[in-house]
Amino acid sequence: MRADTGADKGADSALRTAVSGRVLLPGDAGFAAAARPWNLAVEQPVAAVVEATDADDVAAVVRYARRTGRAVAAQTTGHGAAPGTDGAILLRTRRLDAVEVRPELRLARVGAGVTWDRVLAAAAPYRLTGLAGSSPVVGVAGYTLSGGLSWYGRAHGWAADAVTAFEVVDADGGRARVTAETDPELFWALRGGGGDFAIVTALEFELVPAPDLYGGSMAWPLDRADEVAAAYLEITAQAPPALSAWLGRVNIPGVPPAVTVSVAFLGTAEEARDLLKPLDAIPGAVEDTRRPLDPAELGAITGDPVDPMPSATGGELLAGLDEAALRVLLHEPIDPLAGLQLRHLGGALAEERPGRGACGTLAEPYLLYTYGAVAGPEQAAAIRERQRSLAAALGDLATGRRPYICLGAGETVAHTFPAATVDRLRRIKRERDPHGVILANHPVAH
Ligand SMILES: Cc1cc2nc3c(=O)[nH]c(=O)nc-3n(C[C@H](O)[C@H](O)[C@H](O)COP(=O)(O)OP(=O)(O)OC[C@H]3O[C@@H](n4cnc5c(N)ncnc54)[C@H](O)[C@@H]3O)c2cc1C
Repeated sequence: MRADTGADKGADSALRTAVSGRVLLPGDAGFAAAARPWNLAVEQPVAAVVEATDADDVAAVVRYARRTGRAVAAQTTGHGAAPGTDGAILLRTRRLDAVEVRPELRLARVGAGVTWDRVLAAAAPYRLTGLAGSSPVVGVAGYTLSGGLSWYGRAHGWAADAVTAFEVVDADGGRARVTAETDPELFWALRGGGGDFAIVTALEFELVPAPDLYGGSMAWPLDRADEVAAAYLEITAQAPPALSAWLGRVNIPGVPPAVTVSVAFLGTAEEARDLLKPLDAIPGAVEDTRRPLDPAELGAITGDPVDPMPSATGGELLAGLDEAALRVLLHEPIDPLAGLQLRHLGGALAEERPGRGACGTLAEPYLLYTYGAVAGPEQAAAIRERQRSLAAALGDLATGRRPYICLGAGETVAHTFPAATVDRLRRIKRERDPHGVILANHPVAH
C-alpha cells in the first residue's frame, strides 16, 4: 500500500518549483533540524521536508508526491512520530496557523498547524474551551485524528466527537470540506482512525462551556501508595462526569519516588473539594497545586514536558482495577519507566452515541498510560519489555486494547479497534488512497 519510496533523490529538487513553501532536501542547511520530530527517539530519514504555506500548497505537495511515487507524512509537532517515514516527504503544517473562535456558535476553526495552547487561550475569554488533553503543545489535528482523550472526555466524549468539519486535501491533490453530510465515510474515518486517509488543512469543532475549572496535582511519598489508591478508588467510584482523576506513580532517577493524584473538575472549587475529600485525610502530602484555574491553564495540571525529548509511551485499557493490580503498579519495580498514570475513563466516553466516528465507544473504565525517557535502543527495548511485563502481570484486567494515541512502534490499529472497524478503515484507505500517497504514523494497512 505504501508509495514506492525509491524515486530518484535528485529529482526532488523539482519540489522547489512545485510548491511555494520552504523545501529542505538532504544536504541543505537546516534539513536535519527540520526533519526532527518532537519525540527525539524517532529517526525520520525522509527525502524532503516541505513547510506548506496554505491549503493549495498542501495540494501541490500531494500532487508532486503522486507523480513521483513518494509518500506524504503530515506532521504538526512530531509528538506522535513513529518509525516508517523512510523516503517520504515530511509535510510540516505549522504555517497553517489560523485560529478563529465564534463564541455565539460555540465553534472553533483552526488550521492544521495549530497547537492546543492557542485554542485554549483564544476560547478562554468567553469561558469556553476545547477538548484538550494533558499536554497543551500537541497539535490539534494529530490529536483529534487519533481520537483525542481529553481531561474533559468523561463530560464531553472524544475530541473527535466534537468535530463538525474537516478541510482536506485528498490523495489526488483535490480539496474538499468533509462533514457528516458531504462525505459520511471519510468523516467517520477521520474521527479517530488516524491521518491515513487525507491531509487535513483545517478543522472545525464545537467548544464546551467552562464557566469554572478547578484542577491540580497532589503528591505523597510512595510509601503512602495504599492509602492514596484507596482514596482514588473511592473518588472514581462516585465521580460525576465533570470530574476526571488520574492516579500516578513517579519513578524518575534522582527524584524521591512518589504517588500522585491529578484532577480536573468543570465546576467550582467548593464542589471539587467536597468530591475530593478522601484525599484530605491522607497525611504527608509533599505537593498540592489544586486551585481554581483559567481554562487556558489546563496544561498546568500535570506540567507535561514541553521541549522535545526522546520518549516512549505505552498504554493498556483496563477492564477494572483491583488490589492485586494496584500492588503490581504501585509496589513492584517499574524501571526503566519514568512513571505511569491510571486515567479514569467512563462517562461520555462509554456512552453509546449514534453517529460516532471510528474512535467508537470506550467501555473500559481505566487507561494505564506508561512513559519513559529513551537514552538509546537498549533502553527503548527495556521500556517495551517493562510495558509488556506490566500488562502480563495485570492478567485479565489488561484487555490488550490501547487507544490510538498509545500505539507504539510497529503496533497497528488492530491493537485499538474491533475487527469490523479495522476492516472498514482498510476499505476506506483502499478506495481513497489506492497508491498509498498518504502516510500516517500508524498506517491502517500493514
Ligand atoms: C507529553 C505528551 C502528552 C500527551 N497527552 C495526551 C492526552 O492527554 N490525550 C491524548 O489523546 N493524547 C495525548 N498525547 C498523544 C498525542 O495526542 C499524540 O501523540 C498526537 O498524535 C499528537 O499530535 P501532533 O499533531 O502533535 O503530533 P504529530 O506527530 O505531528 O502528528 C501525529 C500524526 O497525526 C497525523 N497528522 C498530523 N497532522 C495531520 C494532518 N494535517 N493531516 C493528516 N494527518 C495528520 C499524522 O498521521 C501524524 O503522524 C500526548 C503525547 C505526549 C508526547
